Amino acid sequence: MAEAQRNEVPEDVGSDDCLTSYTHIYAPDLLKNQVAFITGGGSGIGLRIAEIFMRHGCDTVIASRNLDKLKEAAKALSAVSGRRCLPMCIDVRQPDTIVAAVEDTLKEFGRIDILINNAAGNFLCPASSLSFNAFKTVLEIDTMGTFNTSKVVYEKWFKEHGGNIVNISATLAYRGQALQVHAGSAKAANDAMTKHLAVEWGPNGVRVNAVAPGPISGTEGFRRLGGSSVEALASFHSIPLQRAGNKTEMAHCTLFLASRASSYMTGAILVADGGAWLTSPNDFSTLLGIVSSKSAKL
Ligand code: NAP
Repeated sequence: MAEAQRNEVPEDVGSDDCLTSYTHIYAPDLLKNQVAFITGGGSGIGLRIAEIFMRHGCDTVIASRNLDKLKEAAKALSAVSGRRCLPMCIDVRQPDTIVAAVEDTLKEFGRIDILINNAAGNFLCPASSLSFNAFKTVLEIDTMGTFNTSKVVYEKWFKEHGGNIVNISATLAYRGQALQVHAGSAKAANDAMTKHLAVEWGPNGVRVNAVAPGPISGTEGFRRLGGSSVEALASFHSIPLQRAGNKTEMAHCTLFLASRASSYMTGAILVADGGAWLTSPNDFSTLLGIVSSKSAKL
């Protein structure tokens, strides 16, 4: 990597832990006293989004199914940032669990300024081996989950007070990425939803945007793709920026869209993939071979 580029890459750690050091590039009070509701905020990219938001003065709710994991993450997040973080148990497929969590958030914090729809299902599978149920489940979590959570937060708070929604998308559908018909279809629907909701809710002061990450190190998805294996490292040569992205970079893009830094943007999908979708290989048989040789080693 060229030195100028190396100097631009922000700190990250590969595990689901908080950063050991952090240098602000945005004003540290950018989200001062705001409240963000982050689905899937207990791991991976969602956890880092919560941390970076809290390091910019925001209180957060991190919401997903595994309460023990969320409690542990919330404790660590508050310790590094000095802000409040509430862990809440929800399944984005079940609107009643979202309603309860949003009501508790409003009781506890009195407001919601930002919603991050980050929760998603994640695995690689050829379409011919994918069960009907597996396809349906991914659509239910990624797409219906995004709609359910957006609608609850809108009805209960954003409709009257405005707010910012950022959906965490993907580039999988742009070229029909092999082994990802489920996630690619779900995220393509979410990109459409981003625009539909931006149009309908803009007059109420709600901006709706999305970040579409490429391969991001230190995440479950990245580990399943072979992570830092020799094959994976070699595949980065086909990416214009020659490397995977990191979780802090995704959090910075999300912070931009969730904050007043992007005040005139809505309905936009910010691709943050080092240019990967433009140039990375998408050969079904080769990718299938890499995946089956990896599962054989497990
Ligand atoms: P991750 O760590 O597996 O995060 C997914 C989160 O979603 C988990 O915290 C999980 O928590 C939660 N979740 C799953 N099902 C749920 C449900 N039914 N209800 C509520 N929460 C649920 O994966 P990640 O890689 O950080 O992915 C984060 C986002 O980035 C996803 O939207 C993904 O599609 C997107 N993305 C990632 C990459 C990448 O390279 N990693 C690339 C492109 C896009 P529980 O298990 O506790 O429910």
